[in-house]
Amino acid sequence: RGDALITRMHELIRDVPDFPSPGVGFKDITPLLADAKAFAGVVEEIASRVDGPVDLVAGTEARGFILAAPVAVALGAGFVPVRKHGKLPGPTAAEEYALEYGTATVEVHPFTVPRGARVLIVDDVLATGGTAGATIRLFEHCGAQVVGLSFLVELEFLHGRDVLAGHRVESLLAVS
Ligand code: AMP
Repeated sequence: RGDALITRMHELIRDVPDFPSPGVGFKDITPLLADAKAFAGVVEEIASRVDGPVDLVAGTEARGFILAAPVAVALGAGFVPVRKHGKLPGPTAAEEYALEYGTATVEVHPFTVPRGARVLIVDDVLATGGTAGATIRLFEHCGAQVVGLSFLVELEFLHGRDVLAGHRVESLLAVS
């Protein structure tokens, strides 16, 4: 069953060269999301790989929301949106991280994150690990505990996993 799902993921995740900028191979998951069986399959697979209890599933704006919310429901956990700067009404907790050019900021509503909460972070693609690393720090500054990170696709050649050292990282599909 697992192998069949991985085969379907290969078929349904579209490679778009040079999007959104030259040299980037964009992983377009919209065909996967539109396939009822594959969408349910990846949600189930992410939920089944969790080790131990989870209180909150955090999704990273924007595609992480789509995956994290049904994973939260499947695990009987709450959902927390991790948003880009300026989207949440606040008060917010924020964490800045470096991009190739400049910086970006991730934010949450800290009053939705109890101290000691066990948090699973979910996103579609692990690339450099910058976003996920900042999201870990964001939750740790809220006093929560990040118990794992799950991705549909891991771009192994960018070594994002190294940035997340010390954390449990699961990816359904590894691209080398
Ligand atoms: P990074 O912080 O470099 O690990 O990038 C991760 C974030 O950027 C995730 O939220 C992804 O949705 C998005 N992302 C990065 N690279 C890609 C890619 N090649 N295809 C699709 N999304 C990507």
